[in-house]
Amino acid sequence: MKAAVLYDVHTPLKIEELDPPKVAYGMVGVRLCASGVCHSDWHVVKGDWPFIKLPVVLGHEGAGIVEEVGGGVTGVAEGDHVILAWRRSCGYCEMCQEGFSNLCTVDPDNSRRPRFKERDETVNKLAGLGTFGTYTVVPQDVAVPIPKDYPFAQAALIGCGVMTGVGAVINTAKVAPGKSVAIFGCGGVGLNCIQGAVLANAEPIIAVDILDTKLEMAEQFGATHTINSSEVNPVERIKEITGGAGAHYAFEAIGLTGKPFLQTIQCTRRRGMTVFIGHAPVNTPVEIDARILMLEKSVIGSYYGTARTHIDFNRLLSLYGAGKLKLDELVTRTYPLEGINDAFDALEKGEVARSVLDLSQS
Ligand SMILES: [Zn+2]
Ligand SMILES: [Zn+2]
Repeated sequence: MKAAVLYDVHTPLKIEELDPPKVAYGMVGVRLCASGVCHSDWHVVKGDWPFIKLPVVLGHEGAGIVEEVGGGVTGVAEGDHVILAWRRSCGYCEMCQEGFSNLCTVDPDNSRRPRFKERDETVNKLAGLGTFGTYTVVPQDVAVPIPKDYPFAQAALIGCGVMTGVGAVINTAKVAPGKSVAIFGCGGVGLNCIQGAVLANAEPIIAVDILDTKLEMAEQFGATHTINSSEVNPVERIKEITGGAGAHYAFEAIGLTGKPFLQTIQCTRRRGMTVFIGHAPVNTPVEIDARILMLEKSVIGSYYGTARTHIDFNRLLSLYGAGKLKLDELVTRTYPLEGINDAFDALEKGEVARSVLDLSQS
């Protein structure tokens, strides 16, 4: 099998031949067909997440075909098309039983999952998946079967960006029809928050970014108003648009904390809800004026869009099939596995909604 390996932070990924792990009890071997290139992968390359052990095969937004199943596997069969989830769910712990399998307490340490080998070196997999390669072996609960009539590139995006963004609006915040929404950051996740707000019948849907190119994409995905926050104070403008009160909901899909994070709290109305989605670098404290919370405002995190993967992945695909979820428009560019470093370049420059690696040719 081939995979793109990161040996050191701030260095390009290298394409290597690796030995795949054996398909043990409870595991499935998946031939990967497509993988999205997500900001989280780039965080690792930039050294923002020093807790990830190197060398590592990045990639955690993948779809493919099950090639082999281990003993005891009942939920998925050889030949099934699957989207991979980057969180395990045991089905039995308190969080799983309460319906929050995205917060499953079992196996938080992905490094214990089977890894690849390169000569004598062990190569880790990001999120236990490592989708920047042609093959992976994963526990059966993260391989979510889907109907066979969907394209792999579009399906792959549901595994992270789409689930995270749409889920934050629909599952975490449970936005009600007619309520106002502001979304800060119009990258892969932010655009999907906008789609989620459209599905929830929110009104208005206000998109905030510092790049006009991204604000144009935001309009294409359903934003009713756009604000370039490098030119206009977004808090004042959001209050203007919402008749002075502020937004009912604000979503932080940047992950930088600091000023934009404060603005997502300042721009909500009394009893407003701020949902923090972005992945902040480790050890990033936030400071807020506690008095602002006295107006019964709430600040909540959203992890993986409060995904119940087996339910939500397939519902999102149905919405796509019915023309109600834009996935084709998200796939801005397609690269071969060898093009991964170019894909990171395009991501860093903000040129794409999403790049996808086409792994079926590798
Ligand atoms: Zn991701
Ligand atoms: Zn669990």
